[in-house]
Parts: sequence; C-alpha cells; structure tokens
Amino acid sequence: MLTGDLASRLAAVRFRVDTACVEVGRPAGSVRVLLATKTQPAVLIREAFELDAASGMLRGENRVQELVAKGPELADLGIETHLIGPLQTNKINGALGWVSCVESVDSLELGERLASRLEAGRVLNVMVQVNVSGEPTKHGVAPDDGLPLARGLAAIGGLRLAGFMTIGANTPDEDAIRAGYARLRQLRDEAVADGLAERLELSMGMSGDLELAIAEGATIVRLGTAVFGPRPPVN
Ligand SMILES: *Cc1c(COP(=O)(O)O)cnc(C)c1O
Repeated sequence: MLTGDLASRLAAVRFRVDTACVEVGRPAGSVRVLLATKTQPAVLIREAFELDAASGMLRGENRVQELVAKGPELADLGIETHLIGPLQTNKINGALGWVSCVESVDSLELGERLASRLEAGRVLNVMVQVNVSGEPTKHGVAPDDGLPLARGLAAIGGLRLAGFMTIGANTPDEDAIRAGYARLRQLRDEAVADGLAERLELSMGMSGDLELAIAEGATIVRLGTAVFGPRPPVN
C-alpha cells in the first residue's frame, strides 16, 4: 500500500468515527480507534502509527504468535496494545510480554491464570468478552454471565477490570446488531452501578458497523479493513 493511501484511509476513518459521534450527540474524539493489525506486516503497522501519532490509536492483535513476532519491531513506538483474540493457557506468557490489556477474557479461570503469571506489582487490564449474538462460532460468555464474570475478575489481585468487549452479530439486520451492542452497554452500566469501576470501556464495532456501535455507546471501535483494505482469508 502506498503511504498516501494509508494516510487518506486513516483520515477517512477518523472522519467516519467523528461523524458517527456527532450524529448521535456525542463529542467528536470521544471514541478511540483500535487498529486491528492481524495479518499486517510490522512495517505497515509502524507507518500507520507514525502517520497518526497525534490521535492516540490503540493496536489490537488476535494471535499471540503475531504479537510476539511483530513485538520487537514495534516496541520503540510505545503503542498501547491489546489482545483481542482467544488466549490459550500455554500462550499466556508470550501474550503478557506484549500487551497491557486482554480484551478477550471469557472465564474466571483465564483471569486467575493471567494474574498468576504477572510480575510482582504489575497490573493487567482485562475486559469481559461477551457473545451478544449467541452465534456458536463466536467466543465470549453469554450475556447473563457477563456481570458475574466481571465481578469475579474485579476481585482478582493484579487485574483491573477495564470494560466489556464484543463482536457484533454477523447479519445485515441492523436492529439485531444494535440490540446486541445495547446489551453490552447495559452490562457495562450495571457493572458501574455495582461499583466495580467508575468508568468502563465498551469495545465494540468494526469496519462494517462502527456507526451502530457508536450509536449504542462504544468507546473503542476495532478497525482493520477500513484502514488496511481486505485481508487475505485467515484459516
Ligand atoms: C479483525 C478484527 C476486527 C476488525 O475487523 P474489520 O472488519 O477488519 O474492521 C475487530 N475485532 C476483532 C476481534 C477482529 O478479529
């Protein structure tokens, strides 16, 4: 990809996000962009973050393998990096070397294992991944289990409950997608009312549906193809 293309796509994405905010009466700039960088080479990721240094974008990787492989090449940029894909126990140490937040926590057991591997004094941000659509291919706990898991994670030393994450329903039915995002927001509101944290993130919305997610209160949208173009299929 040419640098000019990347710069204009980043600008277009920022404009799209800010426009979506303003349309629902939220301040422009109130939603952060997390660049989903799976399958993208480190040089291209570096270029994106250097072009967009001022906006405070986050980075998300799905696979620990890619985190570890690209980590050293990107370390000097100091990008806040999140794991947004499933985490197997045997990959925990690899992941912890490269992320400040695991967005994909879907069990208390995973939370406990993460905490047990932290160096003394380190605090890891975690989000509860919820499967709002109920699609069997998606990870995450059922919506009814989201609050109990959030309570459990908030009580584990070394972990800081940072929010809730979901992948929206894979359907052209916008009402169904929005209903899922509204459910995640409801969980977040309940968790805040419960005193689990003063403020919790809502990581929801991707390239195809970020407007719906922002209308329902997203604070982080995770974007890949809107910036990098279509990905080759991943197995
Ligand atoms: C790939 C990915 C995204 C970004 O998806 P796009 O449709 O490319 O914007 C967001 N979240 C997760 C968990 C992903 O795996």
